[in-house]
Amino acid sequence: MESNGVSLHPHDAAALDVSPVPHLATAGASALQMPTYPSNCLEFARPFLAPETQTSESVHKAKVPLKIILVGAGLGGLATAIALAQSGHNVTVFEQTPVLGEVGAGIQIPSNSTRILFKLGLEPYLRPYVTEPESISFRRWQTGNVIGKTKLIPEFTDNFDAPYYVIHRAHFHSALCQKVQDMGIEIKLGARVEDYNPAAGSITLADGTIYTGDLVIAADGIKSVARKIILGGEDMAFRKPGFAAYRATVDVERMRNDPEVSWILEKPALNIWIGDSRHVMTYTIGAGKAFNMVLSHPDGTDPTTWNPLKAVEDMKTEFANWDPVLTKLIGLVEKTLKWPLISGSVLDKWVSEKLVILGDAAHAMLPYMSQGAAMAVEDGVALARSLSKVDSKEQLAKSLSIFEKVRMQRAGQMQEASLLNSHLWHFADGPMQEARDAAMIPEVKGIPFSHSPNQWSDPATQMWCYGYDTEKAIDEAWEKT
Ligand SMILES: Cc1cc2nc3c(=O)[nH]c(=O)nc-3n(C[C@H](O)[C@H](O)[C@H](O)COP(=O)(O)OP(=O)(O)OC[C@H]3O[C@@H](n4cnc5c(N)ncnc54)[C@H](O)[C@@H]3O)c2cc1C
Repeated sequence: MESNGVSLHPHDAAALDVSPVPHLATAGASALQMPTYPSNCLEFARPFLAPETQTSESVHKAKVPLKIILVGAGLGGLATAIALAQSGHNVTVFEQTPVLGEVGAGIQIPSNSTRILFKLGLEPYLRPYVTEPESISFRRWQTGNVIGKTKLIPEFTDNFDAPYYVIHRAHFHSALCQKVQDMGIEIKLGARVEDYNPAAGSITLADGTIYTGDLVIAADGIKSVARKIILGGEDMAFRKPGFAAYRATVDVERMRNDPEVSWILEKPALNIWIGDSRHVMTYTIGAGKAFNMVLSHPDGTDPTTWNPLKAVEDMKTEFANWDPVLTKLIGLVEKTLKWPLISGSVLDKWVSEKLVILGDAAHAMLPYMSQGAAMAVEDGVALARSLSKVDSKEQLAKSLSIFEKVRMQRAGQMQEASLLNSHLWHFADGPMQEARDAAMIPEVKGIPFSHSPNQWSDPATQMWCYGYDTEKAIDEAWEKT
């Protein structure tokens, strides 16, 4: 049975009357091996297969517990700290800001991320704050007509074993902080790292204090100091695709009073208006209390020249002739933050001796797949898995090299997918836009399709993006060595 071209989850075997008669099932299953090519043909048989062919269900305890220094208490750093501590490592987090927090409003937590966050025990910490949207609708810039549609409920939960959430960033961050605190992981605040010594596994703080560990992980974001050191002193040049985004929230009470826009609040959903060089992504956050908007538009100018006092006015001008519903929503915005959008170049190195980078420090990307933080969470879990396989400290280099190889490919492809959306979504009206919209008609009408320019829906992209098991990828890479 298929939905959007994706195979059904094995839990549904009973519904299909595939009777799990033990001896018959075992007899048939013993000959089955997971294909090495991308395929889901054996999903139905998972409950009968040997553990080594299953997904990575359990948390692996490290055979060699390490003393780990982790720099950066952003979303990526905190998720990594949790994954490593659960594995049995001794982790200390160093964060430059004196007070923990997150800038910006909403963030999407896609199913590939929620699945591993739940496995880390974060479900009860996130639940009170999340909204689970039922669908993602692509809308025509001028009219708001639906031109593409991905159903998230129940499809994503069924197919990828985890829900697709949206949440306020501050809530996501504080859920991670709470878990870190409950696990007794130490966070040193106001601790800015000025220098790294990859050979010694040490960091030097701004006040001159030196800390040494078996391993230093830098999740220090896009302006990473560690990245420059790993690259031998010469930092990478960012790719500047020439976009900036206004980030804003609207008070839902103001929306509820206006029948022209209040319908958007009826069911939690993501709505994205796409047009020439621009798009606007919207969804409710704060468990329905606020309406989040990210308005992407062309702007390659130097952010130091931007005038924050003109931001609201400039934002309205950028989208002046768009769908009246959207312009009305934009009219309700009282303040906004303008953000430069960049994409990191694909690096050929994330590791130098006992120093490794992850998250935005390693693979900053356009937010057009909504996967930047998700990739950082995957990085953390993948690193914990790879380190759990180390039999002695001599194997640390091998473990980091496997992590680097596996994650570079995955994150590099996500950077590529994000850049691709900057083209797919931004066609000016004309033959390419018409062909794109025509290719999304089946998903809007709910009829079967094998491909779609909507990367949330395209069956192959969907399975690669949301069905990916980062721990399994690490296991397989170790098996090949
Ligand atoms: C508009 C927009 C929308 C987005 N939407 C999504 C989305 O829907 N879903 C998604 O998954 N991702 C999204 N992203 C991407 C996501 O926000 C980032 O990928 C993610 O926050 C990166 O986390 P990080 O921990 O790697 O880095 P950061 O969040 O940048 O954290 C780095 C931390 O390191 C600290 N630090 C830095 N230098 C030092 C130092 N020298 N010493 C000590 N501490 C230091 C910083 O203070 C900070 O706390 C979006 C991004 C943007 C811009």
